[in-house]
Amino acid sequence: MYNKEFDSQHLATFHQWCEDACHIVLLSHMNADGDACGSLLGMTLQLDQVATKAATITPILPNGCPRNFLWLPQAERILSGEKQLALCQERIAEADLIICLDFNCASRIDFLQDDLRNAKARKILVDHHHNPAEQEFQLIFSDPDISSTSEYVVWLTQTLWGCKFFNCDVARCLYTGLRTDTGGFAFSCSQPSCFEAAALLVAYDINPADIHNHIVNTFTINRMRFYGFAISQRLQVYPTQHVALFAFSLEDQRRFGVGGEDMEGLVNYTLMMSDIHTGALLREEEGRTKVSLRSKSKDVNSLAQQLGGGGHTKAAGATCMMSFEETLLRVQQLLGVQGLQPIDNNTLTA
Ligand code: 5GP
Ligand code: MN
Repeated sequence: MYNKEFDSQHLATFHQWCEDACHIVLLSHMNADGDACGSLLGMTLQLDQVATKAATITPILPNGCPRNFLWLPQAERILSGEKQLALCQERIAEADLIICLDFNCASRIDFLQDDLRNAKARKILVDHHHNPAEQEFQLIFSDPDISSTSEYVVWLTQTLWGCKFFNCDVARCLYTGLRTDTGGFAFSCSQPSCFEAAALLVAYDINPADIHNHIVNTFTINRMRFYGFAISQRLQVYPTQHVALFAFSLEDQRRFGVGGEDMEGLVNYTLMMSDIHTGALLREEEGRTKVSLRSKSKDVNSLAQQLGGGGHTKAAGATCMMSFEETLLRVQQLLGVQGLQPIDNNTLTA
């Protein structure tokens, strides 16, 4: 069971707002991961059953559902801000209720942020990041100690509606978010509630092995070769400082025909080395550089904040409007390896 109590007044308000609403929009963040897609759809599919028949329920992601999560139940319903901008803006403007999942401030939905801020709708946040932007939402459900937003949706909706709207599709979505945000129940899962939520979902006849295949065993040959290239040619290792980082220019990405989605999870490879405590991955985009930070113990959220980003203690990120080269220098400086020589990629150490 979830080890905290929801505020009964907040629950009542959530319940009432869902019942009152005619046009509900659900939003999650740019470059959606499994938790963003899973919590978005897990909540959407329950609201389908809660809301009145006439209500419209629209899940939106700024740059759409990533290819590797299109197998999720009803993923095809998710509107893409990039591909259907006018429609998304219209739905956000017309909504009387907006539920934001798995992000803590409007800037995380990138070019849709002003649409969210200017929307007349009631706005609810359901999230597990630190420091939610309190002025941007009227009702906040936030628990930074919980494994994932998907787990939070399990407990919140169970408390609200007593599992009445759980079914196999809802369970597949929420289990996917729980599984991906914990790296397959490897981290952020030290509380029993995480496994209890998983057990509750598995009881709805989902197939964890099938979900694992959909999430993990998805590489194209290009992506496979790119990983080989990344580890042999683009991994900077600083053993004395216990730091390792990947850095990929646009040219590297073009050469292998890969993009951001193909790098999901690659940053974790830095931590697979026993002596490495902190890892980073930099990826050049047009006009900006995306930074991912991971650690075994150190707080990388505070480092990400210094780059204008944020996240969790052991997994954080930022989108830097500086050049790739400048961002690399800045990250090296934050990790205490600026000016140092990484181990030669062609050298084997004992
Ligand atoms: P990832 O490295 O997988 O992209 O993101 C890890 C975590 O860092 C995410 O769960 C999210 O909380 C945070 N994060 C990633 N990118 C950004 C960003 O551009 N801005 C902010 N504020 N947080 C980010
Ligand atoms: Mn999450």
